[in-house]
Amino acid sequence: MSFFLSVVPVSEAIAAVHRLGNAMPAETVPLAEACGRVLSYDVRADVNIPGFTRSVMDGYAVRASDTTGAGESVPAMLTFRGRILMGQNADQPVKPGECFYIPTGGILPEGADAVVMAENTEPFGDEILVKRSVAHNENVLRYDEDFKKGEVVLPCGRRLSVQDVGVLAAVGCADVPVTRRPKIGIISTGNELVPVTETPKIGQVRDVNSYVISAFVREHGCIPVTYGIIHDDRASFDAALSQAASECDAILISGGSSKDDRDMAAAVIAQKGEVLIHGVAIAPGKPTIIGRVGTVPAIGLPGHPAATFIVLVAIVRHLLGDMTGNSGPEPVKVTAKLAMNIPSTKGREDYIRVVVKDGIATPLFGKSGLLNTLAKSNGIVRVPAESEGFETGREVDILLW
Ligand code: AMP
Ligand code: MG
Repeated sequence: MSFFLSVVPVSEAIAAVHRLGNAMPAETVPLAEACGRVLSYDVRADVNIPGFTRSVMDGYAVRASDTTGAGESVPAMLTFRGRILMGQNADQPVKPGECFYIPTGGILPEGADAVVMAENTEPFGDEILVKRSVAHNENVLRYDEDFKKGEVVLPCGRRLSVQDVGVLAAVGCADVPVTRRPKIGIISTGNELVPVTETPKIGQVRDVNSYVISAFVREHGCIPVTYGIIHDDRASFDAALSQAASECDAILISGGSSKDDRDMAAAVIAQKGEVLIHGVAIAPGKPTIIGRVGTVPAIGLPGHPAATFIVLVAIVRHLLGDMTGNSGPEPVKVTAKLAMNIPSTKGREDYIRVVVKDGIATPLFGKSGLLNTLAKSNGIVRVPAESEGFETGREVDILLW
């Protein structure tokens, strides 16, 4: 039985994918391979960082109070006591009126509480002229100022950036606890589809969605596994779906999600598991299926590429977020004034592609079959279900892409 006519609100579709999506188990990867992965535990500092008070400049370790009032015309004159070598302690403390040369990263000697940059000094016999005063702690990184031992340096659920890898190195996290990357099976259905390497004949189109979906899931920390182009015949689809369910953690099916005679996605998913939702109040994207094959979440996406993309952004993102433990790249939001009215039907969430420039958002109204609106737009405006649209001049929120 098809539930297609009883479309559900987007919020219900999101709730359904949250019920289906389980977090992947944890695994450990070497730090060198951790970039882009999602932490499965909080990582804490194993030591105080820095473990000693150090200089962040090449210059002279001083007592800040000795430099009070020092300037170009009235420099402070300090007695030079020697050079501190990298990684070594000074052989004596800095007493009032004295200084040591210190390299960047050198251990600040006892008695000193600041460093004067070398550029602001001048040797004068056995003395050093300091031509600029420094404050307490200036050009100094204090003991445990960066991270304290035991402090969480990166939280569970964090997708590791290049910078994060550096922080993990500093806390000695050589083996990084991460969530296993979910494998997402991708099945593209349609008799009219041809591989991108072919020139389509009349009636044919290139398989755009396999690539859109692959790129999307990869961007969200998953591993795409493609099952090629499957014709609209039940036996082939059945076989592909079974294989994907046995090899993957979730399945995304493109096309055949409506209720035409050839549209078999819902029927086959129902036979192998359960269809929870068939039809979502979203435009583009109404013929969306949310179900499972056995225990593997299976989402049927509408074939029109723009509709596929919107459903990925509005609904599938939440499934992938639950599985990876990370909600994906933070969408960039801006506000802009609408250049024209956006009409919308009450009860349906509309996603309108827009071009945003100089604070003005111009809607690109196009059928969901058009690809050009995807390429020409740089964001989307979401019109909530309860709204009948937005008027020209209104400030609207835009998700940039
Ligand atoms: P369907 O959802 O199968 O009814 O397909 C709706 C429209 O999307 C049809 O015009 C299809 O040719 C087109 N379509 C389906 N799958 C793809 C695909 N993978 N790439 C590009 N267009 C597609
Ligand atoms: Mg089709």
